[in-house]
Amino acid sequence: MSTLKAVRGTRDLLPPETELWNKVEATARRVFARYNFGEIRTPLFEDTSLFARGVGEETDIVSKEMYTWEDRARAQSEKPQSLTLRPENTAGVVRAYIEHKLGETGMLQKLYYIGPQFRRERPQKGRYRQFWQIGAEVIGPASAGSESPLRDAEVLEMLAAFLHELGIRDAKLSINSVGSASDRPRYVAALREALQDKAPQMCVDCQRRAETNPLRVLDCKVPEDQPIIDALPKIADYLDEESKAHFAAVCAALDACGVAYEVNPRLVRGLDYYTRTTFEFSHGGLGAQNALLGGGRYDGLSEAIGGPKAPGIGFAMGEDRLILTLQAQASEAASTLADAYVAPLGEGMNAAALRLAHELRGAGLKIELGDGSFRLKKSFEMGNKLARKIILFGEDELASGMLTVKDFASGEQVKVARGEIAHFLGA
Ligand code: ATP
Ligand code: MG
Repeated sequence: MSTLKAVRGTRDLLPPETELWNKVEATARRVFARYNFGEIRTPLFEDTSLFARGVGEETDIVSKEMYTWEDRARAQSEKPQSLTLRPENTAGVVRAYIEHKLGETGMLQKLYYIGPQFRRERPQKGRYRQFWQIGAEVIGPASAGSESPLRDAEVLEMLAAFLHELGIRDAKLSINSVGSASDRPRYVAALREALQDKAPQMCVDCQRRAETNPLRVLDCKVPEDQPIIDALPKIADYLDEESKAHFAAVCAALDACGVAYEVNPRLVRGLDYYTRTTFEFSHGGLGAQNALLGGGRYDGLSEAIGGPKAPGIGFAMGEDRLILTLQAQASEAASTLADAYVAPLGEGMNAAALRLAHELRGAGLKIELGDGSFRLKKSFEMGNKLARKIILFGEDELASGMLTVKDFASGEQVKVARGEIAHFLGA
C-alpha cells in the first residue's frame, strides 16, 4: 500500500513553527483590539452563489480556483445544493452582516477574522491550496461614516502598526484609486479602445482579458507586456471630482500620520463593486509571491449579494507569507550579520580592540573584529558587509572611554560609554 500524505498544496504545521503562527495571531488580536475590532468566525463552506456574486464570476478565484461540490439532497423533492469551501472571507463576512441585520444598529461594524481559505492553485513557495488569512472589514451604513476617507487611512495605519509590531521590516505599501461605479466605465471604455491595437501583441491571457475584463490586463506579470501596459491610459485621468477628492483625502491622512506609501496606477480590482481605494503591502524577500496582503473599498458589495447599501473597506493578509517573511528575516539575522564590527583605528589598538570584542562576545553578542592596518574606509566597507553596526576604537576612544558607534541601516552615529556598550547593542 502506498503511504498516505497530506494532499498537494496542503501541509502540516508543527512545533516549533506553530509558536510563530500563534505569535502572529496574538499580535493581530492585540493590535486590532486597540482599534476596537471584534472577531467574527464564519463557516468554512458557503452556498456557491455567494462567491459567484460576492467575488465575481470573471475572477480567477471563481472561474478556476474553487473547491465546489453538490451536496447530497436529503429528500427526493429537494434540489442538491452547490457548496464551496471558502476561497476568501470578505463575502462570508458581508453575508453575515446582512443576515444578522448588523446595519440596523446604525453603527460601523469593525470585524476581523483569522482562518483557513481554499483555492485550487498551482502550489509553490508562498502559494498553497489551503492557506490562512487574517483579515478585517469596516462596514456600515453611510450615515455611520463608512464612506469616509478617514476609514481607509485608519485601516492602512493599523496595518502599518501591525507589521511594525510584528517586526516585519521593509514592507512596501502601494495604493491607488479605481474610482466609483459611475466614473470607471469611461476608463474601461478607453482601455478597451487602446487595447484593440495592442492586445494582439500581448500574451494569450491579455488577449482574453482585453475582451472579458480589460482592467485585469493591468495585473499581467509577463515581462514583454510591461512596456505596452505602461503606455495604456491611466485610471487617475478618468476619476471624477468626488473620487479624486476622496483619494486626495486618504493620501493627506496617511501623510499626516507618517505612513509611507507609493501610488501605483496599475493596482486595480476588476469588479464593479470595488470602488475607490485599493492597496497592497508587498515584501521583496518573498520572491515571485510578493504580496503580503491586499485590500480595498467595496462600496457596492453588500448590494451585489442582495443586502442594503453598506459601504465598506477591508483587507486580507496571507498569514503563510507573513510567517515566511519572519523566518527569512530571522535566518538572515542569525546566519549573516553580526551585532557589531569592532574597528581598531591603528595597529596599536589591536590588543585593546580584541579585549573589547572578547567582553562583548562574553555578553552574548555576535562580534566581528577588524584590523588596525585597515584604513577607515575599508573598515566601514567590511563592517557594512558583516555587521549591523560599527564600533570605532582609537586612541581618543581609549582615553575618553567613549566609543563611536554607527548604525549602518539608519546612518545614525552616537557616542556610547564603554561600560554601556554591551547593553546598547542589545545584550
Ligand atoms: P496573488 O496575486 O498572490 O494571487 P490575490 O490577489 O489572489 O494574490 P487576495 O485574494 O487579495 O490575493 O488575498 C489576499 C492575500 O492572501 C494575498 O495578498 C496573499 O498574501 C494571500 N494569498 C492569496 N492566495 C494565496 C495562496 N494560494 N496561498 C497563500 N497565500 C495566499
Ligand atoms: Mg491569486
